Amino acid sequence: MRKILFASSEVHPLIKTGGLADVSGSLPIALRQQGQDIRIIMPAYRKCLEGLDSIHTIATLKLDGFHLPIEILQSTLPDSDVTIWLVHSPQHFDREGGPYCAPSGEDWEDNAARFTLFSRAVAALSMNQAGLDWQPDILHCSDWQTGLAPALIADLPNRPATVFTIHNLAYQGLYSRAIFDALDLPDKLWHSDGLEFYGLLSLMKGGLIYADHITTVSPTYAKEICNYEFGYGLEGLLSLRAKQGRLSGILNGIDNNEWDPETDSYLTKTYAIKNIRNKSINKSSLQQYFGLPEKADVLLMGLISRLVSQKGIDLTLDAVTTLLESGANIQLACLGSGAADYEQDLRILRARFPDKVGVDIGYNEKLAHQIEAGADVFLMPSRFEPCGLNQLYSLRYGTLPIVRNTGGLADTVVDATESNRKNEIATGFKFNQTTAEALEETIVRALDLFQRPRIWRKMMITAMEQNYSWGQSADTYLQLYESL
Ligand code: ADP
Repeated sequence: MRKILFASSEVHPLIKTGGLADVSGSLPIALRQQGQDIRIIMPAYRKCLEGLDSIHTIATLKLDGFHLPIEILQSTLPDSDVTIWLVHSPQHFDREGGPYCAPSGEDWEDNAARFTLFSRAVAALSMNQAGLDWQPDILHCSDWQTGLAPALIADLPNRPATVFTIHNLAYQGLYSRAIFDALDLPDKLWHSDGLEFYGLLSLMKGGLIYADHITTVSPTYAKEICNYEFGYGLEGLLSLRAKQGRLSGILNGIDNNEWDPETDSYLTKTYAIKNIRNKSINKSSLQQYFGLPEKADVLLMGLISRLVSQKGIDLTLDAVTTLLESGANIQLACLGSGAADYEQDLRILRARFPDKVGVDIGYNEKLAHQIEAGADVFLMPSRFEPCGLNQLYSLRYGTLPIVRNTGGLADTVVDATESNRKNEIATGFKFNQTTAEALEETIVRALDLFQRPRIWRKMMITAMEQNYSWGQSADTYLQLYESL
């Protein structure tokens, strides 16, 4: 049995902005089920304090660079027996708003301090400095919010082995030199083989430079970030780590209990391969919800996303507009929030084509499940996609993903080419070029096959037979922990 401290800035179902939360809420449970002694550590955001039962204080400690002592609270991750530790510093985390942004959508101004404090607490607990009589063998950190922790303990004797997982290299936690000074970080960390990144403080680099091993969330993304296009200036360092055997890609799994069309309580009608026809009842419900004509022969396309450039929202807007102008037999059911201009453009598209396009701006867990169940295809034309979870949910729900051939999308969707269909391995549609035309052609390709119900049904079944549960990914993480 290994002792593992799993540090994350968001954990589903307590607080979530994206895939990191899904992973942090399910990988620890999978590792626990394999008999590991794993504990999650996260900031005590207001939402967590409100969402957890039986929280109690187990330690108080003073961290370098911060005046007030902090508390470590303990509880249990809902629906599991995984212990969760919360870093309680009310002035940093007990406030209205998201984990990184104020209710206005602006980043919190003190994010550097908030996540330095969090990382310092993680470092302290990983060195058993809080009097808890528990020291992990492995400290597993994720993304820039925890990047400092491996850096702070790198030189200490008897430290745990460290793993740092990149969920998205596009977000790096970059701040000025003045902030580095204000945070009272050790001077020895300021150099180009340390936290410095072209004159700025990079919290992400703490993980990349100092962790014993780096992982990212799909094999293809692990290769892509070693190149100029996706490396954001860190490709040299990452290529070196790959050559050293210290960078690998481990595909995310999904929570098969939460995302199961056979038991999903959000659906109008549950279904499985054996009664796959019932899926169409969810299609009607979804059309009804969005006020779209309830037609079976129209290709209903789903989209659930943060509305940011990464997700190719502009490609979707352009391709769908062209197709609708030419009278294509398609509908779009869209749920998301993010950049104001994309939100506006989607609302305009809805206003232009009210019987073809449904748009909900916001975050809505229930509707996300209903779109996965009701749509025929799912759009994910991402510019880059470290792993992506929605295409995996889509496969499980028999909703064929239309994806750009990148990152985790490349690793998990098998294109409906003729030979893949003959070999009965096709599960969706892929395209290469990051253009609206390429997406449009791919939607047309899907429309053609949609007219051939036997082929379509076979693809739905193949998609639903795929298994992306956490078990296998957890095994791979365990092997990595053992090797360290
Ligand atoms: P990313 O982490 O880049 O946002 P992923 O595909 O890895 O992308 O994970 C996104 C997760 O967030 C999925 O679980 C998805 O269903 C969920 N999600 C994104 N936007 C919304 C929304 N508006 N409402 C409900 N769930 C959403």
